[in-house]
Amino acid sequence: MIRARKRYGQHFLHDPGVIARIVAAIDPRPGERIVEIGPGPGALTAPLLESCGRVEAIEIDRDLIAPLRARCDGLGELVIHNTDVLKFDFRALRGSGAPLRVCGNLPYNISTPVLFRLLAVGDCIADLHFMLQKEVVQRMAAEPGSRTYGRLTVMLAAACRVEPLFRVGRGAFNPPPAVDSMVVRLVPYPTAPFPLPDPARFARLVAAAFMARRKTLRNGLRGLVGPEGFAAAGIDPGQRPETVAPAEFAALAATPVPAAEVL
Ligand code: SAM
Repeated sequence: MIRARKRYGQHFLHDPGVIARIVAAIDPRPGERIVEIGPGPGALTAPLLESCGRVEAIEIDRDLIAPLRARCDGLGELVIHNTDVLKFDFRALRGSGAPLRVCGNLPYNISTPVLFRLLAVGDCIADLHFMLQKEVVQRMAAEPGSRTYGRLTVMLAAACRVEPLFRVGRGAFNPPPAVDSMVVRLVPYPTAPFPLPDPARFARLVAAAFMARRKTLRNGLRGLVGPEGFAAAGIDPGQRPETVAPAEFAALAATPVPAAEVL
């Protein structure tokens, strides 16, 4: 029996039905470049290996490497990177080969930084399948105007298609987590689905707007977008950020920077 470590967010999948459903959603094929984040003792790694013959796995916990190897023995070629995924170089792993298919039952405490790290190298990624906290998936896929629409929604909308797949109850894990989970598929866009001439300014504006969620855009973006900017983008500065579509934030980011910000 492997003891789960809290500090690594360890909740191990044990429900065969859920495991089969996740692997079916990924649908790994021989020859594909499957990368699993946080394989743990191998609940997903073993069936992934059986389907496609080779898996690269990134696992921080040294103590899980031996059980993982034992569980996957004889099932295929398992390459283990015993390191922190937040330091892992996905671009180097891709090299000149095919884009990577990345998956994992992610530790919830690092799921947002992992997502942003991967989307920053979106050209190296074919698709992502992650188990995440249900509320995070709801935020990722929210529509403008909804309570959960926010910075994560808007930043992802510029980078990838978000497909929530199915819920997973707490009983599927050992130990059970304190939250419900959901499996999501993300497919990076080759280019943003709306004009995005200044991605860095877009990120700055989105962060600033949602820092002040209850304020109007006029107040929340003071110093970042002036009256001319709102007029040029055709956006009402009296709106709250949660009603502004991702493409509208991109339009605001394409307007001239007010004089004070240039200084
Ligand atoms: N895939 C296994 C399963 O479904 O049963 C384990 C999932 S468990 C929720 C998360 C896994 O991610 C653990 O094995 C944990 O040690 C690993 N992990 C946590 N933080 C990590 C990090 N920064 N880099 C790589 N792996 C990490």
